[in-house]
Amino acid sequence: MSPQQVKDKYDLIIVGAGAAGLSAALGFLRSYDLTGASAYPDVLVISKLQSLRSHTGSAEGGIAASLGNVEKDDWHWHYFDTVKGGDYLVDQDMAEILAREAPATVVQLEHDGVAFSRLDNGKIAQRLFGGHTSNFGEQSVHRTAYAADRIGHQILHSLWQQCVAEDVEFAEEWYVTDLAIERNDGAEATCSGVVVLDTHTGELHELKASNVIIATGGAGRLFHTTSNSWDLTGDGLALAVRAGLKLEDSEFVQFHPTGLAHTGILLSEAARGEGGVLRNSEGEAFMKRYAPEHADLSARDVVTRSIASEVRAGRGVADPLDPDGPKDCVWLDLRSLGRDILESKLPEVYSTIRNYAGIDAATDLVPVKPTAHYTMGGIPINANGEVYDYHDGARHIVTGLYAAGECSCGSVHGANRLGANSLLDACLFGHRSGVAVAHRVMDAASDAPLPDAGTRALDAAYADRKNAIAAILAPTGSAASDNASESNPYALMSALGGLMEKDCAIRCNTESIADAQRVIKTQLAPQAEALTAHSDVAEFNQELTAIMEVRNLITVAQVMLAATAARKESRGSLFRTDCPERDDANFLKHSHVDAQGAVEWEPVTIKDFKPEARTY
Ligand SMILES: Cc1cc2nc3c(=O)[nH]c(=O)nc-3n(C[C@H](O)[C@H](O)[C@H](O)COP(=O)(O)OP(=O)(O)OC[C@H]3O[C@@H](n4cnc5c(N)ncnc54)[C@H](O)[C@@H]3O)c2cc1C
Repeated sequence: MSPQQVKDKYDLIIVGAGAAGLSAALGFLRSYDLTGASAYPDVLVISKLQSLRSHTGSAEGGIAASLGNVEKDDWHWHYFDTVKGGDYLVDQDMAEILAREAPATVVQLEHDGVAFSRLDNGKIAQRLFGGHTSNFGEQSVHRTAYAADRIGHQILHSLWQQCVAEDVEFAEEWYVTDLAIERNDGAEATCSGVVVLDTHTGELHELKASNVIIATGGAGRLFHTTSNSWDLTGDGLALAVRAGLKLEDSEFVQFHPTGLAHTGILLSEAARGEGGVLRNSEGEAFMKRYAPEHADLSARDVVTRSIASEVRAGRGVADPLDPDGPKDCVWLDLRSLGRDILESKLPEVYSTIRNYAGIDAATDLVPVKPTAHYTMGGIPINANGEVYDYHDGARHIVTGLYAAGECSCGSVHGANRLGANSLLDACLFGHRSGVAVAHRVMDAASDAPLPDAGTRALDAAYADRKNAIAAILAPTGSAASDNASESNPYALMSALGGLMEKDCAIRCNTESIADAQRVIKTQLAPQAEALTAHSDVAEFNQELTAIMEVRNLITVAQVMLAATAARKESRGSLFRTDCPERDDANFLKHSHVDAQGAVEWEPVTIKDFKPEARTY
């Protein structure tokens, strides 16, 4: 879908059509009161993919909420688990909102059409997931509402259908290249719009907007082995950095313990929630040794590190498809579940294993290894989704700019996200950002008009981008004549993914971080800047967007590595072999890192739970 006409100015532009972007659109429209309004607000949802291809659609396991349908549950327990699972780098006021509003969010999804799996009594079914416990850590609790293992598909389609019913206008396969923030005469920073490429026509548009919500998803493509789809190139993060903002806690990247060997394809945590067990080469169910309380249902960072330890101790296994290859996998044992449960509750997991590894999980062991899964850090937001810049010891709101979903950092996940909490984050805080914008637009309509930020930065971004695209599309020889990595964005992405995996995944130290920084600075970044396309045609030129994507990945990698270098401790997903302990005295704080790698530290909001040691 393309917009019927491009408007002069929008009340709201949403960049991204996954769970966060669509929830924001619905939150906006449902709370916008048309009574007395002279005109319908102008809203546009832009997506570089067709909306229904957004990564949200591949979420498998479920969405967390203390509905208590299977057994007693309490949102305070969910709140505690989220804080503890995040290794205490969680802003507790935000996690409190997440847990308290989760049941209403799931019920709203049900009303919007999500076909949840059901219990015999008709209530929404719930399953076990890692790190979710009852009574403040006592035992695992059935908290994750699910739709077999296709929750993301259900949520994405339902939200999209609701948006279509509400007449939301979409610009699909439009690629946002720049975000503009005006900083006129020392006044407060104000967002004025975006620059976007219509990939069908090759036309570049300068779109003015009083409000922009960035909802562009994660950056899993930074790593070679990832569960993320190909589009997750951290565009929104790079847009923010290039517009002069900082990323918060970007050093925290979650590796999911069970990627199918050597493909990285996710085998949902629901597999262990339903009774699956990890085993080493000796057949031992080793998680009991590392985390006796919750074993295989410990939080992801704990399970991932335990797998890495088993592999280092020589108890890993090789992928049966590559028997002479490295022994860097362990077994996922699903045999005790039986074929009926696999087919009814885990149909995607079961068929993925069969189709991609040729293994029948009902009778055979499945080789798995950790896979890059989720970016905990991102664009800093408050409870209304407003983006802020942290400097001089205070938050400074960027007027008219919002973020939601995986690209945002509301600090609900801290240093490690609990499974099933991210769809919740995307839907809940996406909705809140839409509501906040609706109130802002309505206040302006009934009172004074929204301040006009001017468009100096937007005009400049548009002109610069036009030149940059012209340079990419004017082959200077090298790209047209050879396929070496320096002239090919896909090979460059692959080189970057390999480097980040070698130097930064799961374990790192001062030397490995410095190595990645050096290679990026001296080789990959200059190569990315020199890339030109093999065709000078602007219409449907996927290489043109791929070149901009790899440049975005490099920008994000540089910020991430600077943040990782600055945090001299181990916490949650970040394990530094040279600083193996958590250091609350010096690092119980959020990093905010800009394009130059400069770091500001913001205190963590602690309300109800004092940091304590963590074993699961
Ligand atoms: C395989 C897998 C399974 C998962 N399972 C679960 C689960 O069971 N439970 C759970 O809670 N979480 C799960 N997650 C995580 C969760 O699905 C994601 O964090 C969440 O869906 C992200 O939603 P989002 O709206 O932020 O982004 P996405 O759904 O990734 O959408 C991003 C949108 O941004 C658009 N976009 C990006 N860049 C641009 C640009 N430059 N210009 C224009 N548009 C752009 C894209 O087109 C897309 O529409 C899973 C993730 C994966 C990868």
